[in-house]
Amino acid sequence: MEPVRMLQILFSLEDGSVIETVIIPCARGRTTICVSSQVGCAMNCQFCFTGRMGLRKHLSTAEIVEQAVFARRLFSDELGSINNVVFMGMGEPFHNIDNVIKASAIMVDEQGLHFSPRKVTVSTSGLVPQLKRFLQESNCSLAVSLNATTDEVRNWIMPINRKYNLNLLLGTLREELNLRQKQIVLFEYVMLSGVNDSMDDAKRLIELVQGIPCKINLISFNPHGGSQFKPTPDDKIIEFRNVLIQGGLTVFVRLSRGDDQMAACGQLGEPGGYQLPLLRVPEKFQVAL
Ligand code: SF4
Repeated sequence: MEPVRMLQILFSLEDGSVIETVIIPCARGRTTICVSSQVGCAMNCQFCFTGRMGLRKHLSTAEIVEQAVFARRLFSDELGSINNVVFMGMGEPFHNIDNVIKASAIMVDEQGLHFSPRKVTVSTSGLVPQLKRFLQESNCSLAVSLNATTDEVRNWIMPINRKYNLNLLLGTLREELNLRQKQIVLFEYVMLSGVNDSMDDAKRLIELVQGIPCKINLISFNPHGGSQFKPTPDDKIIEFRNVLIQGGLTVFVRLSRGDDQMAACGQLGEPGGYQLPLLRVPEKFQVAL
């Protein structure tokens, strides 16, 4: 079977900034659009290519919605029905929460793009107050980029954790989702060799998400230029997945697609001359890099 290729669309904005939208065909005929919500990103996640850019600007509601409109208009016939939207392109969606809530509402409105709310997923690195607001105001789906099982590691690879730590993030999710009883959260977990992929991490992860209605998505890391991290080997990802399943969790595994064309998660953007600083690597992880 022919490998399914991702398509990358570059949009040039009025001020000359460039944003990227990725179209991810699925072999079963369903296609996903990955939209951007900012130019660059302020969160400085250490494994992310976009994060190297820093924040250049927030996208307007129209600039977010237009990415889905354009993709649908151009590619629906060729790629079958486009029925999933994920806010996993450039930017931290909840850092631009007003426009993201409006854009996602237009995407699911029957007078708008009329996607199913279950098929529009907004992903966050963990901005807790905005996460609560999203759960209160939106009926779209939520994903949280977790990527670590201790504050020590998450403080390093996702500095937002220094403001909203694991206990606060997961406690808020537990409380809010159980209150609503209709939503679940998808935890994304990018597997970084020697950093967050030990069997102890797997066991801690089972404990951390207890009582939270959730699914886990294990994602193979896509190395990019200047990246200090290495991907976890596939057989170790499977071993990690098996521990989670034995612990009663529902787990998906997403092996890399599109890494040859700079269009996979955490690989969008062009850092250019100015880049955010890399953070100090905790001593015990220096051998892993
Ligand atoms: S992973 Fe997401 S939140 Fe983190 S720097 Fe990259 S785009 Fe921003």
